[in-house]
Amino acid sequence: MAGIYIHIPFCKQACHYCNFHFSTSLRFKNELIAAIVKEIEIQKNYLGNEPIGTIYFGGGTPSLLSEIEIHSILKSIQNNFKVNVDAEISFEVNPDDISATKLNEWKNAGINRLSIGVQSFFEEDLQWMNRAHTMQQAFDNLKLATQFYENITADLIYGTPHLTNEKWKHNVQQMIELNIPHLSCYALTVEPKTKLFKMIQEKQNEKIDSDKQAEQFLLLMNWMEISGYEHYEISNFAKQGFRSKHNSSYWQQEKYFGIGPSAHSFNGSSRQWNVANNNTYRTAIDNGNLSFQKEELTNVQKINEYIMTSLRTKEGLNLQKMGTATKKQLEQNAAKYISTGKIKLENEKLILTNEGKLFADGIAADLFLES
Ligand code: SF4
Repeated sequence: MAGIYIHIPFCKQACHYCNFHFSTSLRFKNELIAAIVKEIEIQKNYLGNEPIGTIYFGGGTPSLLSEIEIHSILKSIQNNFKVNVDAEISFEVNPDDISATKLNEWKNAGINRLSIGVQSFFEEDLQWMNRAHTMQQAFDNLKLATQFYENITADLIYGTPHLTNEKWKHNVQQMIELNIPHLSCYALTVEPKTKLFKMIQEKQNEKIDSDKQAEQFLLLMNWMEISGYEHYEISNFAKQGFRSKHNSSYWQQEKYFGIGPSAHSFNGSSRQWNVANNNTYRTAIDNGNLSFQKEELTNVQKINEYIMTSLRTKEGLNLQKMGTATKKQLEQNAAKYISTGKIKLENEKLILTNEGKLFADGIAADLFLES
């Protein structure tokens, strides 16, 4: 089953750590949404006739869309793709955009899962991140959302300079008490070209403490396990029945079609990504073209992508899916991690232990096949 991702490239203000593509000028929002609708029509054959099991509005900030804009995008998808009646339709929202009116609009549009960017319940952390919402909005509006939606995921960030372990516990505890059934928790990363990167370079901010991040990740895994959440992917925890179907399909190498500036697509054999510039994207579509780059994937690249994503999941890397020579190579590459307790081998699956999860990306890179 395939998925559709729609990138809404607008935000009220730039969070200091963020390296996603977005503009804080909403001047050409109407025109951009019209271009998104047109891209859906132009690309209607991208996934063949594959049924669509998930639709995901990400960004940027999808909660800046009006009711009419949401309807026009979903209608265009319905008209041009075969969407399953029980498709998961997720929508990323920021706490300051949530109100009873908006929640009703989103429900009426058919959105059945909300992804709420909370990040922290402490004012000093939110200000440090340059988030657009306050701690009160985070708490009150998350609570309000639970009165309209059962299927909610919320994001939290750990490893930030002012986040002590006690504060981290409070953030996670609030989510558990509000009965949020899915949590995505990310270690703060410092990406080039972000304000945070610049501030650290100019010594206006201290460097990220990776030991503290590791400690907070270990604490998190412990709290979530005690509270009955399944740790089904490195950054994701779910109560039974609340895994993200959309993100799971990425990790299972399903096909997906990405719409909007900077969105990525995968059709089983190649990847392509739209230009990360609102004006260039819009102008190309106005002229009946698409502005994107494309890469055909070799078999080795496909296997390495599988290694990277599967190793992050609870199910692990299934060696039975590999040919004999590849399987042997992977077993050899994994041997030192098995002997040091970072990977366990169960039913021909390589699965990261909690300690191994601290080094997931490095271990995956070390298992990669050479082209
Ligand atoms: S709201 Fe989200 S997409 Fe926008 S700047 Fe902040 S983190 Fe990035």
